Amino acid sequence: MRTTKQRTAVVEVMQEIDRFLSAKEIHTALQERNAKVGLTTVYRTLQSLVDIDAVDALHSPTGEVLYRHCETESHHHHLLCTNCGRTEEIDGGPIEKWAQQVADTYGFQLTGHDAEIFGVCEKCQAKS
Ligand SMILES: [Zn+2]
Ligand SMILES: [Zn+2]
Ligand SMILES: [Zn+2]
Repeated sequence: MRTTKQRTAVVEVMQEIDRFLSAKEIHTALQERNAKVGLTTVYRTLQSLVDIDAVDALHSPTGEVLYRHCETESHHHHLLCTNCGRTEEIDGGPIEKWAQQVADTYGFQLTGHDAEIFGVCEKCQAKS
């Protein structure tokens, strides 16, 4: 498969499943759909998608890097259910201002910040 085709296949699978997935999960999903993309290529493709902000990446509490193709194109944060993977795209709210203030206080030029919220969603709470 050509690079563009592989990239399309990866994005399509992510849009379809619509939650944060590890590279391995994406690779498995591609195999189930008979897309011949190697795990190394999946990693490489995901990295290039993250580089152009087409895909969001975050570190889960278990230390895994998870990827998601989000609907919101502008800057946002995530509220993630650690049980089922349900994700809400949320506004950074006071975090945006706080990050700028902290950078200013220490004389840093702000280049970015990272803040994700993890929890258990209502549905999963009801189940347990
Ligand atoms: Zn996102
Ligand atoms: Zn849940
Ligand atoms: Zn933010």
